[in-house]
Amino acid sequence: MDITSLQRENIKNLKPYSTARDEYKGQASVFLDANENSFGSPLNGELSSALQKDYNRYPDPLQLDLKDAISKIKGVPIENTFLGNGSDEAIDLLYRAFCEPGVDNVIILPPTYGMYEVSAGINNVEVRRVNLTPQFQLDLDGIAEAIDEHTKVIFICSPNNPTGNSIIRTDIETILPNFKGLVVIDEAYINYAKQRSFIQELTEYSNLVVLQTFSKAWGLAALRLGMAFASRQVIDIFNKVKPPYNINQATQDIALNALKNIEQVNEWIRVTVADREQLIADLQELDSVLNVYPSDANFILAKVKDATGTYNALVDQGIIIRDRSKVILCEGCLRITIGTPEENKTLLAALKDI
Ligand code: PMP
Repeated sequence: MDITSLQRENIKNLKPYSTARDEYKGQASVFLDANENSFGSPLNGELSSALQKDYNRYPDPLQLDLKDAISKIKGVPIENTFLGNGSDEAIDLLYRAFCEPGVDNVIILPPTYGMYEVSAGINNVEVRRVNLTPQFQLDLDGIAEAIDEHTKVIFICSPNNPTGNSIIRTDIETILPNFKGLVVIDEAYINYAKQRSFIQELTEYSNLVVLQTFSKAWGLAALRLGMAFASRQVIDIFNKVKPPYNINQATQDIALNALKNIEQVNEWIRVTVADREQLIADLQELDSVLNVYPSDANFILAKVKDATGTYNALVDQGIIIRDRSKVILCEGCLRITIGTPEENKTLLAALKDI
């Protein structure tokens, strides 16, 4: 029996997301490919006792204890907070809850994070691409032209992956009051940015959705825990559509434990930002490096003379970065996560040898 023919038409043609770990499997010593926190997770010794409980009961479907702890740090009320199985779950829910398959469309701004497009494909929702300018900023005229009455969501990633820059705040503020759909600002890397978060603006705009995550500065990528902050109306719709127990009890327990250790996280952020500026300066010294773009994130984008050759030579030395040279506006570019000071040294030494 040909099971493949049973798929929905849009799934037959789907190009799935390719994670950093799909593209590289094997033995390596330095992983600078997935923009994780290279230092570790901010968990302390109390963790084992926190986890010593039975798991026979279902977890709190609305994760109120965890949201309360997050609210104390972010200053966003619980009723304006949604927690997902990674921010990827919130991205998928935006489609399932707000976009009519085959009718509605969303706008994405390439080069940007790949899941906006993959989730659109899974949900059979049209994607309209309005490329960023050569300075990796918004093409406001292009966005205005792409919008029609079926445009439900605009995804703005700031700081943007893979370019690393923040999007000019006033450009986003031009879109927010004028667009009739949802404006999603993906702030996965906001902890590393000079620009302040848009969560302070939630009370101004009922159509604003801010995504953040525990996968980056918080060092908990393996837990799969993402946040969406929005108006009560948006959050209530998310809660209506999400699977009942979408955040498991172990994740809730471990995240609560981690939240007690914010000083450790802040210290890692300070080191990462300082090392990022140092790495940019060091890379600019190399003959093989043509340009290093300014970054507000925990990674940098660098244009090099031979991207794929450099990538392969680093792999041979057990150092994994991300080859973004086939991505629009990123021709010849590599994306490199800021590692520990030791890892950054290893990377630089390897690049000098190539
Ligand atoms: N948004 C951006 C911009 C990202 O780079 C990533 C992960 N690489 C995500 C969202 C997904 O994060 P999470 O682990 O919370 O699903």
